[in-house]
Amino acid sequence: MAAENKPLLSVRNVSKQFPVGKSFFGRPNKWVHAVNNVSFDIYPGETFSLVGESGCGKSTTSRLINRLIEPDEGEIIFEGKDIAHLPEKEVRPLRSEMQMVFQDPYGSLNPRMKVQDIIGEPMLIHTKMSPGERLKRVHELLGVVGLSPAHGERYPHEFSGGQRQRIGIARALSVNPKLIMADEPVSALDVSIQAQVLNLLRDVQEEYNLTYLFISHDLAVVEMISDRIGVMYLGHIMEIAPNEELYADPQHPYTQALLSAVPVADPEIEKKHVLIEGDLPSPTNIPKGCPFHTRCPRATDKCKGEVPPTKEVRPGHFVNCHFPG
Ligand code: SF4
Repeated sequence: MAAENKPLLSVRNVSKQFPVGKSFFGRPNKWVHAVNNVSFDIYPGETFSLVGESGCGKSTTSRLINRLIEPDEGEIIFEGKDIAHLPEKEVRPLRSEMQMVFQDPYGSLNPRMKVQDIIGEPMLIHTKMSPGERLKRVHELLGVVGLSPAHGERYPHEFSGGQRQRIGIARALSVNPKLIMADEPVSALDVSIQAQVLNLLRDVQEEYNLTYLFISHDLAVVEMISDRIGVMYLGHIMEIAPNEELYADPQHPYTQALLSAVPVADPEIEKKHVLIEGDLPSPTNIPKGCPFHTRCPRATDKCKGEVPPTKEVRPGHFVNCHFPG
């Protein structure tokens, strides 16, 4: 997918920490460093994915972008405007431009609401459409996601997981967003259904000229849907590269280890397994220097003492490592 030059969204040096422990005096004495100095751009019409293990900060990053939470530091520039610290009343209208699709399609749909009311709810909040106009649009959207107008009269429990995710996608589309953030949207689904939902996401992206931030722990899923990918570890970006280049020639030791663990269907292809040693450090106590140095097979004293700078090893391929390759 051709990316235009000007990003729709720029995340610049964004950090967020959350208090966890309390001192004798009731003050926070421990902090989870959830997102640390994260920067990336997302261009109109592309799918940019954040991938990493559970707890690496990718979901927190999406919650920062749509301002469900406010960053401690950094800029979130959406359509040329920094929204990182806007007051809630100025953020609310922006939410129609940035919609979410969630992992658990059942948990994210109100079980007491009819499907047509669920899909119509964002229009009720963000537009002045009449009830008749909303229902007409709901029926159109049900068709777009492969359901029928009659499905609008039913309740979420009457649908399969895949159908419920279709309803979640219809709801996200209802207010004509520019950016859709899909957080593990297929990880709760069977593999055969995953492909259908990914195809639907791709189809509606083309039809409505949508931009996606796709979040997943699953490298096989990310490979299927992404134009570019950012790899996260302990709240830091480790590597950003175009899809094919990341899978063909990963430069960061962490990306190499993650990819070496993905099974390949072709028995002719031999894979060199890169083991990550040791346990994941606590996000309350992130290692100094390179955050990956406690587990990296290539770590040196330099890695322990100095935060690696971002190197552009090839056009559009960025690596946060002292010794990429
Ligand atoms: Fe490994 Fe050093 Fe690169 Fe970090 S900077 S990933 S420790 S080689």
